[in-house]
Amino acid sequence: MAINNVKGTHDIYGNESGAYTAIENLLKTVAEIFTYSEMRPPVLEHSEVFIRGVGEGSDVVRKEMYTFLDKADRSITLRPEFTAGIMRVIAQNKLFANVELPLKYYYSGPVFRYERPQLGRYRQFNQFGVEAVGNNSPYLDLEIISMAYTMLQSLGLENVKIKINSLGDEASRNSYKEALKDYFRPYLENMCDDCKSRFELNPLRILDCKVPEDHEIALKCPAIKEYLSEESKSRFDLVVKGLEEMDIPYEIDDGLVRGLDYYSETVFEFQYTSKMGKDYGAIGGGGHYDKLLKELGGADLPGIGFSFGIERLYSVLVDDGLINPNEEDNIDIYVMASSEAKLQALIIANRLRMYGYRIDYCFDDTKLANMLKRADKKNAYIGLIIGEDELRNGTVTIKNMATKEQMTVPNENVDDEIANMIEEREHHMHHHCDCGCEDEHSSCHDDGCECEDCKNKKGLN
Ligand code: AMP
Repeated sequence: MAINNVKGTHDIYGNESGAYTAIENLLKTVAEIFTYSEMRPPVLEHSEVFIRGVGEGSDVVRKEMYTFLDKADRSITLRPEFTAGIMRVIAQNKLFANVELPLKYYYSGPVFRYERPQLGRYRQFNQFGVEAVGNNSPYLDLEIISMAYTMLQSLGLENVKIKINSLGDEASRNSYKEALKDYFRPYLENMCDDCKSRFELNPLRILDCKVPEDHEIALKCPAIKEYLSEESKSRFDLVVKGLEEMDIPYEIDDGLVRGLDYYSETVFEFQYTSKMGKDYGAIGGGGHYDKLLKELGGADLPGIGFSFGIERLYSVLVDDGLINPNEEDNIDIYVMASSEAKLQALIIANRLRMYGYRIDYCFDDTKLANMLKRADKKNAYIGLIIGEDELRNGTVTIKNMATKEQMTVPNENVDDEIANMIEEREHHMHHHCDCGCEDEHSSCHDDGCECEDCKNKKGLN
């Protein structure tokens, strides 16, 4: 019997996998520009990291963790998010000692949550995110949000909606929680079981309830902004004004509380509606935290971070036509050999690969006509053929697959001939000017060639 993938996982291969890598590379490049460096925390952590870090009141810890006992009866959890694990690394290695703060890290990789699988919701999915730890400046909030915004813009996403809110400091939050309890208490009996336990563990989480009747009740609850301390209020004002000055569009959303317990002060979420009008909900989110590092045995230092869901980014990029999932591959060279020339051809292919050309090799013993059809199908620029004659004469036939022109050259000239052809192709891609100049900065297609010849012709000299 066939074995299928585990429920909630998905297989990523081919163009989709290539797109994930491209997305991750772009995000990494932006993070590097902001001078964040990579951290690769383990997938496995002691369950305690997330129970203490993410918090017992969160849905993630209450019901979504992949937790098991290992062979020595330790409770281990597959990370449901990166932030708590990164704090554990920082705490354990005392990375905050004797350095200028904030510490700035980015991360990328799979996370695991036992959620009900549905469209865009998986049990194993990929996140990319950043954490900046050890500095309480509100300008760090602005740097973080603007970095996320830069990332989404670099990907080409135009309809990003940034929702932002402040959860205030601990005292603000505690008085707000009391106010929420007073508000929800009369309704509680008729609310869902989840809300009943949220009421005890973290009443803020009731604001995220998806049950329509409960959601209806939550709509009229008091807003946190009424409970913010002066300090929290002025911090939030500064962040909001900063976004304004930085031309970053945002919306203040009183109801935004985020799913993880550790947040305080600034929280934000990136929502996306595709050009076709499809609402993808959150493609990422994050916020500031105060107690997380200390909770995991480190210094009493605040931090801020965000994470994007790579699956969600991929879907919106496809939907908005910024990624073509069916894009055809093309290669530089397809190597075709008769059965007795197979080894010789493989050796030449490997030698040419050292220059960085993308080379595919035909393993099958089939007629040359068939192999040439395959070369076309693979969009090969050059066909490299070694048949009986070539093998006997120490030559190789090189065919331009587009023009069908071909030449047979001695073995020792192959590298040079290929190099010429590749260079010629690059030349054609960049220069469409008849003058044949090599000026890298010219843009000959739009008549803007700035080589001396052309300028003379246009009477510019
Ligand atoms: P969170 O850590 O819950 O704030 O999630 C950060 C981002 O990860 C979200 O904005 C989503 O884009 C993505 N995400 C969260 N849960 C899932 C899931 N089950 N499947 C796919 N993506 C997810």
